[in-house]
Amino acid sequence: MNIMSAVLAESDTLPPVTGFYQYVVAANGLFIRAADSRIEACASVAGAGGLPGLVEVEPFAQLKVPRLSDRFLIAVLDSARRHLPNEAMYQFEYLGGHWSCSMPHGKASPTALTFADNPQAVVDLHSHGSLGAFFSSVDDGDEQGLRFYVVIGKVDTAEPEILCRAGVYGWHVEVPVTTVFDGLGPFTDVFGRADEAEPVEEDGDDVDNSAAAVEEGVDYTESGLAVVKWGLDHG
Ligand SMILES: [Zn+2]
Repeated sequence: MNIMSAVLAESDTLPPVTGFYQYVVAANGLFIRAADSRIEACASVAGAGGLPGLVEVEPFAQLKVPRLSDRFLIAVLDSARRHLPNEAMYQFEYLGGHWSCSMPHGKASPTALTFADNPQAVVDLHSHGSLGAFFSSVDDGDEQGLRFYVVIGKVDTAEPEILCRAGVYGWHVEVPVTTVFDGLGPFTDVFGRADEAEPVEEDGDDVDNSAAAVEEGVDYTESGLAVVKWGLDHG
């Protein structure tokens, strides 16, 4: 199988993705799409103004397996609050018909995370602690897989925020959180929020790792998430 392929969007129904990922040339620009057994997504790479002979393509992303229960979000918020002022990382895996959540082994500070990636993860979720939910330039650099990426913020307040996007090997498409979870739990989805003031950027390079807040050795047994092993109850 070739790593990549390309197709012209000549009708509204595109053929199945071949290769690891596929470029789609559409009337409205260039897209990249990919799929595995759990996720399917198509993200815009570059816009164009009406290429003749082709149809338009809309970016999209969806799970090919049942969505996650929003009870996970309650547990994640609870855990993220325990890790304040630090950020925190959670990964969701779909195995044997069930979702499970774990915190990867790693290191966290108030502005940065390093962790041992679970390559089977379908959804990555990280906490920005007391900052808002947005995708920083650091997140853009980190989030390079075919996966859903979720960020939560303002977790120290009564109105925590959440934002979700799908990644297609470095290209991203923001989607409502309910694309991935069956509810918002305690969060407000900031999908589509107008670009107000530029959010404060995370900057991993400036992290003061001598700060007392740096945590090491968070692992799969992190208290609280051990109970996050619910099966799906979609009837
Ligand atoms: Zn981030």
